[in-house]
Amino acid sequence: MKELYTGKLYWPETSRKTREYEPLRENKKTQVAIIGGGMTGTICSSILVKNGLSVVMLERDRVAGGSTSANTGLLQAGNDIMLCDLIKRIGERDAAAFYRACREAIDMIAAEANALSVDVGFERRSSLYFASTEQHLPKLRQEYDALKACGFDVEFWLPGDIAEHFPFRKPGAIVSHGDAEINPYRYVSALAEDAVTAGLQIHERTDVVPLHKATDGKYHLRTTDGFEIEAEHVVYAVGYEPEELRGQLIKAELNRSFAVVTGVQPNLQSWHERFLIWETARPYLYLRTTPDNRAIIGGLDEDSGQPLHSDAGRRKRSLRLLEKLGSLFPGLQAPAEYEWSATFGESRDGLPFIGEDPKWPKVYYCLGYGGNGTAYSMLAAHVLRDLIRGEQHPLSRIVKLDRPSLTSI
Ligand SMILES: Cc1cc2nc3c(=O)[nH]c(=O)nc-3n(C[C@H](O)[C@H](O)[C@H](O)COP(=O)(O)OP(=O)(O)OC[C@H]3O[C@@H](n4cnc5c(N)ncnc54)[C@H](O)[C@@H]3O)c2cc1C
Repeated sequence: MKELYTGKLYWPETSRKTREYEPLRENKKTQVAIIGGGMTGTICSSILVKNGLSVVMLERDRVAGGSTSANTGLLQAGNDIMLCDLIKRIGERDAAAFYRACREAIDMIAAEANALSVDVGFERRSSLYFASTEQHLPKLRQEYDALKACGFDVEFWLPGDIAEHFPFRKPGAIVSHGDAEINPYRYVSALAEDAVTAGLQIHERTDVVPLHKATDGKYHLRTTDGFEIEAEHVVYAVGYEPEELRGQLIKAELNRSFAVVTGVQPNLQSWHERFLIWETARPYLYLRTTPDNRAIIGGLDEDSGQPLHSDAGRRKRSLRLLEKLGSLFPGLQAPAEYEWSATFGESRDGLPFIGEDPKWPKVYYCLGYGGNGTAYSMLAAHVLRDLIRGEQHPLSRIVKLDRPSLTSI
């Protein structure tokens, strides 16, 4: 079992106690078995159950307890891989289709979040994507042109525009409208509860061991407690732990990232409309606010698949993140109250892994690697719904596991 984070997380510590689900204690039959109860497993389960399928979701630990609880909750159509770079990699039509699908995924999350009876901290926000250096400016302009041509609601801000709205100056920035923020932990916990009322069966503390196929074409999953699930379709929504389950298919890099949540900031007025903020440097710094007036700052990714164990080491990174916050917003003085280090996965071509196992029919992977993991989870749910129905989703060719953009790397 992989350790996904270390430190003190903000969302679980500040959310109400979530519902618990009993471990699997009998053999079961279902149409779809979903392994993993994070954001991806839960969104997929919810969509499939609401489309009339019988679904059992099996989670080794607690629902929303994996990297979902370390997620900082920015929902952006802009990706780790810029649209202008994606166009070079997979062509204009596919790159534009992928970017538009990320935008639509945010709209679908909005609709779902607003339909839940619990406040999951969903708010529409604009994003400021600034050039970290003068050298990044021509590329940022190119990205602006690509986004505009693709129909995105974007503006280009010059240094004077930025300084008019924020207490800092940068060489230039793209402002995108229609992004959002969410409390990912509360969203996933509430969505799971809602899906249970629609018929989803959830078993926590239920660890699934590698797949075993029966002769009748159905899959038999076994748990470490010795129970069995018979399923027509199996979905792996196991986050950053694919190596346990035919992970050789996945071409990804695992890094570790850091995040800090400050104490309540008495003067957030200098933060124009609570924009989501990020930059062109790689690894990038990103920032947002919380409904209770804190600042979240994340970044400083390092080349290691393990979260940092040393408290002193984590503290050092937190101070660096706070310094960066201070250099942008000198008025924000509240110290860090929550800080964590977490494993973070990125695919080698910048796209998520969503699709059927090329060798095992009706076995699917939904692995939303990248900074837009939440949007990818929603995308995965729709691709999967169509595959299970025997239909082709317009994006399935672009995100499938044996896509050309991956096999050529
Ligand atoms: C620091 C950080 C910040 C991030 N910020 C953002 C952000 O701002 N916006 C954004 O969109 N994305 C963000 N992400 C990415 C996002 O968190 C992930 O994409 C998302 O959490 C992935 O959800 P998941 O369900 O795939 O994985 P997880 O939440 O890890 O869920 C996978 C689950 O599978 C379970 N599992 C694994 N193997 C088994 C097994 N054999 N049997 C049973 N259960 C099993 C695990 O216990 C786990 O609960 C961030 C990630 C990190 C680390």
